[in-house]
Amino acid sequence: MSRKRLVVIGAGMASGRALEQLFATEPDGWHVTLFNAEPRGSYNRIMLSPVLSGEKSFDQIITHDADWYGQHGVTCRFGERVTAIDTQARTVTGTKGTVAYDKLLIATGSDPFVIPLPGHDLAGVIAYRDADDTRRMIDAAAQPGARAVVIGGGLLGLEAAAGMRARGMAVTVVHLPGHLMERQLDPAAGELLCHALEDKGITVRLGANSAEIIGKDGHVRALRLADGTEIPCDLLVMAVGIRPNVALATHAGLAVGRGIEVDDQMRTSHPDVLAIGECVEHRGALFGLVAPLYDQARVAAQTLMGQPAAFLQKTLATKLKVTGCDLFSTGDFEAGDGREDIVFRDPGRGIYKRLVIERDRLIGAVMYGDTADGNWFFGLIRDGTDISAMRETLIFGPAYQGGTQPDPSAAVAALPHDADTGGCNGTVRRTLSAWGLGSTDPRTTSPRNVA
Ligand SMILES: Cc1cc2nc3c(=O)[nH]c(=O)nc-3n(C[C@H](O)[C@H](O)[C@H](O)COP(=O)(O)OP(=O)(O)OC[C@H]3O[C@@H](n4cnc5c(N)ncnc54)[C@H](O)[C@@H]3O)c2cc1C
Repeated sequence: MSRKRLVVIGAGMASGRALEQLFATEPDGWHVTLFNAEPRGSYNRIMLSPVLSGEKSFDQIITHDADWYGQHGVTCRFGERVTAIDTQARTVTGTKGTVAYDKLLIATGSDPFVIPLPGHDLAGVIAYRDADDTRRMIDAAAQPGARAVVIGGGLLGLEAAAGMRARGMAVTVVHLPGHLMERQLDPAAGELLCHALEDKGITVRLGANSAEIIGKDGHVRALRLADGTEIPCDLLVMAVGIRPNVALATHAGLAVGRGIEVDDQMRTSHPDVLAIGECVEHRGALFGLVAPLYDQARVAAQTLMGQPAAFLQKTLATKLKVTGCDLFSTGDFEAGDGREDIVFRDPGRGIYKRLVIERDRLIGAVMYGDTADGNWFFGLIRDGTDISAMRETLIFGPAYQGGTQPDPSAAVAALPHDADTGGCNGTVRRTLSAWGLGSTDPRTTSPRNVA
């Protein structure tokens, strides 16, 4: 039987996993051509931050290199960008030529969003997405007295800031919202994180609106804020979000919304074209974390092999890797009708935990300083567990559940002296003992209370 021709666009985390699955089951079923705009094979992109901070080398995070692909008979076209897909002729055209396919897998990931500020095209203004960006930050940090500005106080921006700081750079994070990581954290946890970063020598400017990037001789020299403040820098990293990379699919006439639209089998609007990873939109959702992309990769491989499989969206959790700050966030913690909060604060030890409950189900959890129970809370959310029986001791974690009747007094007695439970409106130990953990309205949360 002749091998089917599979063309893959993008050698990222999603396609690497899909090919692994495909070769594990049908090692001789396919002839694969793999295009990658980056001049290399696949690596663990999420480990770029430990590479930046110096905890790992780039070689340690390579997952599938040219040798691995070669062993599986893959024709690698690394460093070659695909410029067009013709779904009628079933061909893909790269900068060095055209290849025919029976099946096509698009896995082009995302493009970092660049704010079109005056000066955004100066040398020394970069995003944080790939191995080359990481190399530029490492090289800049090697210059004596080098200074960096990071625009964006989200997960990626803070990892860039922490990594460069670990290499000795003077780093300022400029963030427009009033607290860091506002998509994952509430203001109280954001404030704790801010203090921890400042303790590491990172300057954080919140509520700061970037107005212009100033250059000298074609190279970045400073960031000017809307209030006129100038922050000098030799490198400016924009980490303000990503956009699914859909240009090829759009030009090929595939259905594209915010991402390339796919069904539960990861098929696009053309049955011979599949898509996976950050470039896709599935049932209205976009994806920016690896866990669902691996599920998509498995489903795409099964679809290619004619096996039944369906991609299901799941609850996800976020952790910070390199800042040295323990942080865990999962689920939904927006304020809403019928939602209640359980909050635990221990400012002395820098611990903050917040659980959000709706109709006797845990729907969100934020933990800062002590994230040991994060996976347990994550499981309760994922499984939709009814928590009514353990509500009063829930925030103390699995150790207080067991088979016995929960005893909130015992849990409170076990707390350190300066620990505080309840809302930021000052619910204290005594209240907890008498009433159990009360609910609080997150809208009353005052970050100052936990500083
Ligand atoms: C620094 C950093 C830290 C992260 N940390 C985490 C984390 O802790 N946890 C987590 O879950 N996620 C994290 N992420 C996100 C995670 O890395 C991504 O979700 C994941 O890599 C996306 O995989 P993908 O295969 O869709 O795209 P990618 O891995 O981006 O791969 C896409 C590939 O397609 C190539 N390509 C694009 N267009 C073309 C074209 N026209 N022709 C040929 N090739 C093309 C690109 O060059 C790229 O190599 C992090 C991301 C970064 C950048």
